[in-house]
Amino acid sequence: ATPVSVMVGSGKAAELGVLFKGGRALEDLHRSDVVALDKTGTLTVGKPSLTALHLSPTAGLSEEQLLSLVAAAEAGSEHPIAHAMMNAAQERGLSVPAAGKLDTEAGYGIHAEVDGQTVHVGAERYMARLGLDTAVWAEALAELGAQAATPVFVAVGGEVAGLLGVSDPLKPGSREAVAELHRRGHRVMMITGDSRATAQAVAAQVGLDPDTEVRAEVLPGDKAAVIEELQAQGLKVAMVGDGINDAPALARADVGLALGTGTDVAAQTADVLLMSGDLRGVPNAAALSAATLRNIR
Ligand code: ADP
Ligand code: MG
Repeated sequence: ATPVSVMVGSGKAAELGVLFKGGRALEDLHRSDVVALDKTGTLTVGKPSLTALHLSPTAGLSEEQLLSLVAAAEAGSEHPIAHAMMNAAQERGLSVPAAGKLDTEAGYGIHAEVDGQTVHVGAERYMARLGLDTAVWAEALAELGAQAATPVFVAVGGEVAGLLGVSDPLKPGSREAVAELHRRGHRVMMITGDSRATAQAVAAQVGLDPDTEVRAEVLPGDKAAVIEELQAQGLKVAMVGDGINDAPALARADVGLALGTGTDVAAQTADVLLMSGDLRGVPNAAALSAATLRNIR
């Protein structure tokens, strides 16, 4: 593109709240074979709340006791799930004991000492890594998945004490954005660290094929590898995300798009910045990319 046509495209883009950092992204975006979307904070609002609580009959804890242990353990975490737990404890007026130092295991969960007991909070694979059997929770897990709720296991003193569910509402524009990207001829995928059942339920809600277009249970360090895998198939990939954990994937993608509502790290890494959190900015940016190219030719 000539510098002039890039500026024209970028000017129009700014009106729509889309910032192209360079001519390359403006030229390439509409040619993307795949648009890969992060789930939490991108397709969903990113502010989950507690919506389900299953107690282990053998752990001997009440709902309140379990939740206050979880809130205590999560107090030092920045993860959206931690906020959901803290809010839930506060809404119920629970007293939350002080916890010892928190340890975070990215993509798995957290653990901390609370009242002399070790509390582990996180994904099913976290329990598996701790050697804890979750077979008896299969039915509750399926129920959470069907509700598009994220399963959060709690182990107290090395025993699974409960299974909580947190739900994160879809953003209003997400379904429409996916439909518009499909209409424009892009394949649309989801890449997430969340559990498969939950990711598939969200995919169905936004109009993605849950069986072919979902990459779930992807560890934070592996999102970029998923992009590379697609590129190795000869596909041009655009990636949309908001989080620190999306930054390597945004950098690896042919075009990286960050939401203005996300983290600074994502915004700095991306080629395109969508000023609002509205995902309809993605097809808008693609339309501008196509229109600008027509002007240049
Ligand atoms: P994503 O933002 O794509 O869902 P993350 O890598 O942040 O992915 O987290 C993946 C999974 O790890 C979460 O869905 C959750 O099950 C678990 N997890 C991570 N951090 C925490 C935390 N602070 N509390 C509970 N679970 C957590
Ligand atoms: Mg996210």
